[in-house]
Amino acid sequence: MKPERPYDPMTIANAVELGLTGVILYCRKCPREGAIGFDALALPLETAVPDIARTWRFVCSGCGAQSVVSLPDWTAYKAPGAGGMARSIAI
Ligand SMILES: [Zn+2]
Repeated sequence: MKPERPYDPMTIANAVELGLTGVILYCRKCPREGAIGFDALALPLETAVPDIARTWRFVCSGCGAQSVVSLPDWTAYKAPGAGGMARSIAI
């Protein structure tokens, strides 16, 4: 069942369109984080990025907590028409 949200979250399809290749998983109980690629997740393209952690039931390998959240991994993102995020700011 789709969770109710006040906004439409980014889906894997949206992320791939922007050139992103995966997500970062953050533990809410300790400072641990890790990256995982969309290929390794093997989820449908319409999957919402925030739902990935819940769908896979990730458990933190540091503290064992099940409160892991997934956010888009922006490290591969290049703003259109710019060399990268840093260079898109003109002074
Ligand atoms: Zn943890």
